[in-house]
Amino acid sequence: MYRLCRSCLKRLGLEGEPQKCELCGGIFEKIDELLDFSYDKEFFNFNIGVKLDQKILDKERKIMETLNLSEEKSLKRELLSILRKKLKEKFNRPVELKDPDVTFLFDLERFKVIPQNNPLYIKGRYNKLVRGIPQTKWYCRKCKGKGCPYCNFKGKMYETSVEEIIGKVFLKYTKGEDEKFHGAGREDIDARMLGDGRPFVIEIIDPKIRTLDLKKIEEEINRDERVKVRELEYSNNREVIRLKNEKFKKTYLAYLNQEISDEDLKRIREITEIRQRTPERVRHRRADRVRIRKIYKVEKENSNCLKICCESGLYVKELITGDNGRTVPSISSVVQKDLKCIALDVIKIHDR
Ligand SMILES: [Zn+2]
Ligand SMILES: [Zn+2]
Repeated sequence: MYRLCRSCLKRLGLEGEPQKCELCGGIFEKIDELLDFSYDKEFFNFNIGVKLDQKILDKERKIMETLNLSEEKSLKRELLSILRKKLKEKFNRPVELKDPDVTFLFDLERFKVIPQNNPLYIKGRYNKLVRGIPQTKWYCRKCKGKGCPYCNFKGKMYETSVEEIIGKVFLKYTKGEDEKFHGAGREDIDARMLGDGRPFVIEIIDPKIRTLDLKKIEEEINRDERVKVRELEYSNNREVIRLKNEKFKKTYLAYLNQEISDEDLKRIREITEIRQRTPERVRHRRADRVRIRKIYKVEKENSNCLKICCESGLYVKELITGDNGRTVPSISSVVQKDLKCIALDVIKIHDR
């Protein structure tokens, strides 16, 4: 027979004298000691994890098999249930299994609690009102951020980005360590993002404060002339995954170097689908492959400007030029002119 403590005997439904436990090593008597820790970052709910010594787990498996007991009586389950209850009382906060603000990992092997402060997610929509800044931070391709003559010791290829303009305000109010910016696709550096904006989620790493005045943050970000945000709301990681996986139609304004006649427009409107090889200009960072993409609608905004609604992932500049035969057909090829896109604006992301 096994030497077990009172708690283990009871849990496993066994009779016998309590003894120094060969299964749990007397962990149940030391629980209160383990709970004597402090945590000073703001949180509204939590979850816990329990990490047990492999030797204990092996021992337990042997005992459970011998006595033919079910998983429901496992040490880990019992510990989780006790620790959840005790922590609820200690912090006066509820347990949250799906999106906890913090996960307290009880490492029983090392007899310590390791808090994992989970990121804070805020979603919204942004406009980029100027050309020449990227959506996300772009580290110097030579020094990868350390600073070198190539980047003028800035470590970055561009002075700032949509990410940095929005991120710095969030970092100030959350006292986070860092942030990650997740956009529903991205516009070219030289393209503006107009209309009602592009959906994004900003992920704040290790926030100390989670209670935010989002209206105030919005106003503060919007003092910048280059980037505007709207509809800020608390969000979660599932929204990031959704943004990354969903493909939305887009509407663009493409400003051309030549005028478009009504006759031209008629020919352009006959293009409903194109075959597009990865453009020359992005080949260094994207795999070279052929994409079939749809064009839903083309209108004349004015004599030099086309309004184009097309499928996600279509390269509009190359739709216009033809990219030396890599995009077929192209607007240049059907009107038999050497058209260039001198400026591009995204005016709608069709996500709603
Ligand atoms: Zn025990
Ligand atoms: Zn550099």
